Amino acid sequence: MDEPRGNDEGANTGASALSALDRRRFLGLTAAGAGLLALRANGAPCSSLEPTPAALPGARKTKRVVLVAFAGGVRTRDTFGSPENVPNLKKLADEGVLYTRARTANLGHFGAALSIFTGVAEQRGIRENARGPYPTVFEYARKELGLAANDVWITTSGGAQQVNYAYGLHAEYGAAYGANTLDGEGVFNKEFKRVLETLGRPREMPKDEEAALKKLRASLAKGGEAGLNSAESAAQVERYILQELTRGTADLTGANAGDAKALRLARNLVSLFKPKLTAVVLQEADTAHGSYNGYVEVIRRNDAALGELVQALRDDRELATSTAVIVVPEFGRDRDLNSRRGLDHGDGSEDLSNVACLCWGPDFERGKVVQEAVQVVDVAPTVCELLGARAKLAKGKRLPGLFA
Ligand SMILES: [Zn+2]
Repeated sequence: MDEPRGNDEGANTGASALSALDRRRFLGLTAAGAGLLALRANGAPCSSLEPTPAALPGARKTKRVVLVAFAGGVRTRDTFGSPENVPNLKKLADEGVLYTRARTANLGHFGAALSIFTGVAEQRGIRENARGPYPTVFEYARKELGLAANDVWITTSGGAQQVNYAYGLHAEYGAAYGANTLDGEGVFNKEFKRVLETLGRPREMPKDEEAALKKLRASLAKGGEAGLNSAESAAQVERYILQELTRGTADLTGANAGDAKALRLARNLVSLFKPKLTAVVLQEADTAHGSYNGYVEVIRRNDAALGELVQALRDDRELATSTAVIVVPEFGRDRDLNSRRGLDHGDGSEDLSNVACLCWGPDFERGKVVQEAVQVVDVAPTVCELLGARAKLAKGKRLPGLFA
């Protein structure tokens, strides 16, 4: 626990970071971490730690999905149409399926990105900073498959509205089935963060927090095969988990710093917890309104950060053979530059209303390009089906021609 962990970016993958730990001890930590992270936002322990039988498709290898909303408004012309900008995405496309005509939802950034997670384009009445009326892929997966909270995560580039992707307001779903949220500062769901903060800052805790912490420690103690049964070691585990999750994010700078952090958090998450569903929401490509060149720089950097995330999957035998990755923007951008030599989004062009959707995974076709028209809202039902769940209220349908 004493070794410095904050700034070791570079070649340090999750696997190598873990090898620094005693193996047996780490197994204990992971079990303990599962207990810790199963704690719901309201402080109640998750009721669904025992896995319920899932309707998993027959011989499929896919057990996990990483869903990246490559959002902020990104044209295909600047990604797969300029492969030098996105060598990592290009490589994934060469090994997977690329849908070149995915119709976007005609909404603002937030509503359109949310539709990736709900599979519903008509988010009537949605304000730019509110939860949507429809359930998300996180809620479908957690409710139907009985997944614990630590199996479903979303990392975002930051900003208050981004917490709204984690769950919607539908009466049969909602917060109890939401994703754990991490943003670029490594911040958990507000309530969860408060619990963690108390560990490094001894003080009088309000009663509800104290109860939450007690429960948390009790669940940690249960996972204490490796001797993690004292309050102090539980606190160490909690610190360790937070450190591991935010490892390498402090020094990320540049045009895409928020996006890069979100992708780094996701990389750390998949290495540490191997969640069933990990989502990432990017947003910084929207700098394009003011600068085309700045936008291309964000795309390039995000491609590199995505490459690191995929490398972490490739480096782990279990993840490499069981994880599907889906990358899709919420919409594109205008065909022509604006007066600031930037790109807005509002001209109704093909560049705006069609994006490329990339799918890579152990069950998918390889090197296939699908020109058939599909929709961005097809992503949510596809993700659910991959995990063995059904997006009951989604308007999209499973992407065609995906499976080998
Ligand atoms: Zn914009």
